[in-house]
Amino acid sequence: MSSSESFSGGIEAILKPPATIGILGGGQLGRMVALEARRMGYGIAVLDPSMDCPASHLSDSFICSSFSDSAAVKDLHSRSHVLTFEFENVEPGVLDGLLSRPSFEPLYTSRNRLREKQLARSLGIATAPFFPISSIQELERALLDPAIEHRGGGILKTCEGGYDGKGQWRLQAGQGLSRELKGELQAYLDSGLFAENTAGTVRPEESSQRIGGASGPHSDQGAKVEEVKNGQAAFAPLILEGLVHFEREFSVVGTGFPDGTFAAFAPVENEHREGILHKSKSYASLSETARLASLDYCSQIQKHFGYIGTFAVEFFLENGSPVFNEMAPRPHNSGHLTLDASYSSQFEQHVRAICGLPSGDTNHHSAAVMINLIGEDDAILDGIEEALRIPGLRFHWYGKTKSRKGRKMGHITALAKNIEEAEAKADQAYGLLRWVRQ
Ligand code: AMP
Repeated sequence: MSSSESFSGGIEAILKPPATIGILGGGQLGRMVALEARRMGYGIAVLDPSMDCPASHLSDSFICSSFSDSAAVKDLHSRSHVLTFEFENVEPGVLDGLLSRPSFEPLYTSRNRLREKQLARSLGIATAPFFPISSIQELERALLDPAIEHRGGGILKTCEGGYDGKGQWRLQAGQGLSRELKGELQAYLDSGLFAENTAGTVRPEESSQRIGGASGPHSDQGAKVEEVKNGQAAFAPLILEGLVHFEREFSVVGTGFPDGTFAAFAPVENEHREGILHKSKSYASLSETARLASLDYCSQIQKHFGYIGTFAVEFFLENGSPVFNEMAPRPHNSGHLTLDASYSSQFEQHVRAICGLPSGDTNHHSAAVMINLIGEDDAILDGIEEALRIPGLRFHWYGKTKSRKGRKMGHITALAKNIEEAEAKADQAYGLLRWVRQ
């Protein structure tokens, strides 16, 4: 099928089942999009480098290829009526000339922390102070800036390729950089890894952080360090963000539709462990003002891009107000609870939007608490049969062939009449589960 004749991308285009949805990436997010799409009668085509990736079992058509292989991506496009992706580290260029929902622009923006923070600021969305960093000297100067000193320090992050807290260093104001850290950073700056899209072929949970390595000089040493206020940020491999002294972390998951409407779920409260999402609660404890402000921020982002599909924005709540952390141009881990708690899940909403169908009901019929099941090396999960005795417990497993430490293997969601009850059930179930070495 020729995709140009099958999909115009206009708001009038409605794709009804059994049209085929092409998904770039076959991880758990692709799998859950595919599960919902299949229930609605759509066909599924998947491209992924791993033959037995989580979405492969649900696809009618599977292309085993690297994400950077333009010909393979074009092949996926030609097999599909609409193309979408499940993660942001798509190689620049592979989507050139191809229609996807969402489009490439939000993906390009959100894959780089500097670009996305700058966009947030230009839209009037509150962020922590931030500085582009291209050298150790710039970092040392930025750490002395009052905007950072006032906050007691900052977090240095790689602009691209970091995830789940990796590629980040917490730095205290007034304390020099250790020789070890300077060496590690210099090796990263010298490596040139950031000059290209290094993360393009690696799905976040599949890789380990790639700081280090060495080759090629880096030459931006003299650049003036400046907090980015407005206008275009210069390219930089690293970003220093002021420490946010947050009361809690929360996220908003919402979906943009071709007619410009935006439908969000209630903000979700998130708890991280070792930089990885551990628990999400279906209602974040926020004032009405903070709730409305965060929804308004997301609606502005959706309008800016003319965004079609599901996306998420992670916020800190600082002094009672939302502060933008980052956005994900795809369904999000904190939205998994919508599969069980909402009338239309984040994945169904994504399918509806990219196929030109109207929004479903994003209200929850139950309170819900989700806990991620993060793997251990060469281990199997034990205790499911005991946990599943708990009423209202839902178990999700992604079908990954091997468990590894830090890998997202599945999740549980506990449903109840209120959050306290749901959290007690989720904690009880989680306490019954354990990883057993094989
Ligand atoms: P990120 O990968 O940017 O989402 O960061 C991972 C986690 O590090 C966040 O969920 C926060 O718990 C923490 N964190 C990130 N940035 C900051 C910041 N500017 N201030 C305080 N904590 C932060």
